[in-house]
Amino acid sequence: MTACGAPLGGQTIPYTKSGAQKLILVLLQPHAEGLHPISRELAGAARRLAAGSGFKTAGIFIGGELISAAKAQVQDCGLEEVYLYLDERFRPFIPELHTGALLHCVRALRPGILLVGATPEGRCLAPLAAVPLETGVTADCTELALDAGGLLVQTRPAFGGGLMARIITPDARPQIATVRYGIFRGGEAAGTARLIQAETGPLPLPRIQAEALTAPSPGGKEADYVLALGGGLRTREDIGLFKKMAHTIGAELMCSRSLVERGWFPQSLQIGLSGRCIAPRLLITMGVSGSVQFMAGVQAARKLCALNTDPGAPILRAADIPLICDIYQTAALF
Ligand SMILES: Cc1cc2nc3c(=O)[nH]c(=O)nc-3n(C[C@H](O)[C@H](O)[C@H](O)COP(=O)(O)OP(=O)(O)OC[C@H]3O[C@@H](n4cnc5c(N)ncnc54)[C@H](O)[C@@H]3O)c2cc1C
Repeated sequence: MTACGAPLGGQTIPYTKSGAQKLILVLLQPHAEGLHPISRELAGAARRLAAGSGFKTAGIFIGGELISAAKAQVQDCGLEEVYLYLDERFRPFIPELHTGALLHCVRALRPGILLVGATPEGRCLAPLAAVPLETGVTADCTELALDAGGLLVQTRPAFGGGLMARIITPDARPQIATVRYGIFRGGEAAGTARLIQAETGPLPLPRIQAEALTAPSPGGKEADYVLALGGGLRTREDIGLFKKMAHTIGAELMCSRSLVERGWFPQSLQIGLSGRCIAPRLLITMGVSGSVQFMAGVQAARKLCALNTDPGAPILRAADIPLICDIYQTAALF
């Protein structure tokens, strides 16, 4: 691979399977002083896909500068090389300029796969890049795998979570997937990426000027222990019982959508397809049935302990520790 030497804003010529490299390109997104944690999760996913498949891995970082904290994270995220697009004008997120940089890199490297974190910026960039490349985007994937022929199999809930769709892009390239934060466990630090300064020439003037845009926080530090309450909760007043239990075991209290719909919890604490994806070391669910939509948000939990009175509840089949018991009797022990 060579450094990208063509000017930014050149013509984007779509390419197909035959013109693509066996390369997985990951968009590494800046956040605050470092990288957004989704970047590390996607770098880990790229490494796992590449292992034994003949694919190489690379990253692209677009930002105002690479301060030392971010540089260390970029270097040890486990990708083989990272292309740096650094310019003061990349500091605020301006879709037109950032898409230009992403397309510049894609034109030069011709990756077979492009992975983008489903942050607000990533959700904006992926389709903006896909249009001139005449390819598609599979948004909010919950699983990524390579089939025997090296095609990216992109799994995501469809029809409101009623089924899991496995989507492939047979011919157009790159195969673009966005993934929400928390779906893939962040890989351990691995290797030292070669940093390559992209040569773009002067940046074109964007048609829109942005003064300052602040990216929303990825949610602060993720909790190691989460206690999730579900529709089995009888009254709003009962929340106190489970709050006490959560406090005693050092867990963060969250919920399924049924309690948000009852107005007992804010939406920010909802787990699932239309809520948050979480990756705690231990998730304890109490009175949660285990709908497909709820389960879409807990794929990355390391251990799941589920309490439910109904032996047929789907969550008991998925749990590492299934407990057929009454949540009120359990909470009374704390
Ligand atoms: C487009 C779309 C998106 C959605 N997104 C989400 C989402 O992000 N997150 C989400 O959670 N849902 C989501 N849903 C809703 C989802 O389909 C379910 O309705 C919801 O997950 C049900 O929540 P629940 O399992 O907590 O409640 P319920 O279905 O009411 O289940 C309650 C469970 O508690 C058990 N129980 C009752 N009493 C006790 C007791 N005393 N002790 C022990 N167990 C008891 C019952 O056996 C039952 O299994 C979405 C739906 C749609 C259509």
